[in-house]
Amino acid sequence: MKAGVTSCHALWLTLATSLLCALALADGLGDPKAYPRALAASDSQRVAAAIERNVSPLTPAVPALIGPYGAIKFQRLLGGIFLALDSYASAEKHLRRAHEMATAIGDAEDAAAAAVDRGEIAILTGHYDDVERLSNDLAQLATRADLPWAQAKAEEYLGVVARRRGRLDDAQAHAQRALALQRALGQEAGTATALSNLGTLARDRGDYASALDLFRQALAIRERNDDQLELTLRNLALIYRDLGDDTAARDYFTRALDVARRHGDSANYAATLGTWAGYLVDSGEFAPALAAAEESLAVSGAIGDRPSVGFDLLNSGRALLGLGRLAEADTRLHDALAIGRELNQHEIIAHSQVSLAEVALARGDATQANKLLQAAFADPQTARYKPLMVEVNELREKIATAIGKPVQALQFAHAAAALREELLGTRASRRLAAQESQYARAAADQQLALASKENQLQATRLAQQHLQRNYVIVAACGLGATLLLLAWRFAGVRKLNNALATRNAEIESQRAALSHANDRLQQQADELFQAAISDPLTGVSNRGHLMRQLDARIADCARNGGELAALLIDFDHFKRINDAHGHLYGDRVLVAGVQTLRQWLEPGDLLGRYGGEEFIAVVSGGGAANAIRVAERLRERVAEAMTDFLPEANGAVTISIGIALLSSLAKPPRLEALIEAADRAVYAAKSAGRNRVVVHAA
Ligand code: GH3
Ligand code: MG
Ligand code: MG
Repeated sequence: MKAGVTSCHALWLTLATSLLCALALADGLGDPKAYPRALAASDSQRVAAAIERNVSPLTPAVPALIGPYGAIKFQRLLGGIFLALDSYASAEKHLRRAHEMATAIGDAEDAAAAAVDRGEIAILTGHYDDVERLSNDLAQLATRADLPWAQAKAEEYLGVVARRRGRLDDAQAHAQRALALQRALGQEAGTATALSNLGTLARDRGDYASALDLFRQALAIRERNDDQLELTLRNLALIYRDLGDDTAARDYFTRALDVARRHGDSANYAATLGTWAGYLVDSGEFAPALAAAEESLAVSGAIGDRPSVGFDLLNSGRALLGLGRLAEADTRLHDALAIGRELNQHEIIAHSQVSLAEVALARGDATQANKLLQAAFADPQTARYKPLMVEVNELREKIATAIGKPVQALQFAHAAAALREELLGTRASRRLAAQESQYARAAADQQLALASKENQLQATRLAQQHLQRNYVIVAACGLGATLLLLAWRFAGVRKLNNALATRNAEIESQRAALSHANDRLQQQADELFQAAISDPLTGVSNRGHLMRQLDARIADCARNGGELAALLIDFDHFKRINDAHGHLYGDRVLVAGVQTLRQWLEPGDLLGRYGGEEFIAVVSGGGAANAIRVAERLRERVAEAMTDFLPEANGAVTISIGIALLSSLAKPPRLEALIEAADRAVYAAKSAGRNRVVVHAA
């Protein structure tokens, strides 16, 4: 592998060295008298030969060193170098090798590329049969391997050859297919070439309006790419020449020559200069025509561009004829005729024959002139070249005059005049058509400009609509976002509300619990209060509470001048009951006794336990009689109740009551005094035998 790489480097090094040697060799050459461009062209041929000499010995080793694909690339590279040097024979040799090697190993891409270059060389050198063969093979390969670019080139070449062979319809079909393919590929250079070829065909048909239009399209592309521009400018010059517009024709020729000089492509330079020479001959400017034709001939001769050589020989011959240098003209024109025949190129043949006839006539050999003219008409194609036919008829007129046939001469003069008039008419109508086409193109351009303005407007409108739509989208998004925010907030609020409701429920339940607790507290407080003011055994007011109530009543009576009586109730011989029946039994007696007392007191009366088995009832209003009546009633009812309640007591449970009236006390009345008075009255009742009521006497 490493050895291969080293060998490869050595190979390129040798190639580079050969190139340098060849260039140094070429530098030392040069004939100052020769045309500089022709000199350059022939120098490049020498460079090519030098390269060929240095590289040839290496060539057989190449496949072994860099493999078959590398060898193909190497041969293509050499072919490309020789093609650039306009050394067509060497270029063709290497490209053919590349082509054959690529075909042998089935490398379609390289085979097609080599065939395309070989086709170009065959066209340049006028090997039209080779072009047709290569192009047909290339078209088949392109179809097989799906290489549309190769297909396009094949169509282009077939079109060029068909035109040069005079098959215009064929040429048109091929050129149109080439255009379609190049356009589909988006290949600008190829598209311009196809347009150019179609333009030339339109000119051949006399459709100058289309020709002008097609050339202008090609011009637009080539002015942009600066590729083959000289050829299109030359084609436009030819069109204006045909239209009789000398100013435009010269202008385009000048531009074409400038570009050709700048580009330095020998073949294109020779083609441009040669055409210019032809124009000058037609204009009768023989000396400059000869100079241009000579230079073109030198260049095309150096590079072996045979079709160009043919035209250059023809033009230089015609220029020499115009200058009266008949012998030189004759030689040149014979050479031109030979090449025309070799290439089978009718334009060269017919023109050479007619010009040779003119030379013969100028020499005074009318018979020879007539013979040559007959030969020219042997090819029916000749009649196609109408300007030539004018010349032919003028020549025939001269010949007829020379051989003493005035009637024939007159006929030919008429024919020439008619043809000239026809040409003038044709030119006029062509000019009109061209002008119309220019007008139509200008209108189309304007329409296009309008359409593009309209497009811009439309684009602006569209942009506006986009903007509006974007605004709407933004607004909708904003609205959506707001709605989402609101929804989110709503959800938040709802969540909060729920939390609040839960909290409220909790608070409510806590409040209920609190209220319940409060109620219980109140109840407990009430109970506590009740307990605080009540006697636990009998449930009546205890002594403290009773005293406060009684004190309040006394104060009330003192204020309002009311009366009340305090009844001190004492159970008789209670000690005995306890002793006889037990303390608990005593308790039950007390409870039952108090119940009876309560039952028989009025609702507004007070009752409380003063202590032990002693109770105090307070009766408001009424005097002593009422108090006694109440006391008696209490005494009787308790005795009854005890008899009913405790039959075993056998009527032993009685009570003694001492009454003290407030009015009977000294003023101001005092609680202690009232109690003391009542107590004295009870004592009196006990002393008097018990179970009785005694009123304290003041
Ligand atoms: P008198 O007729 O003179 O009043 O005789 P008495 O036995 O009732 O009077 P005394 O003052 O000598 O006795 C009172 C008795 O009442 C003594 C006491 O044990 C009894 N006693 C006082 N409080 C209660 C009580 O709450 N329950 C019971 N079972 N007995 C009580
Ligand atoms: Mg007592
Ligand atoms: Mg007692």
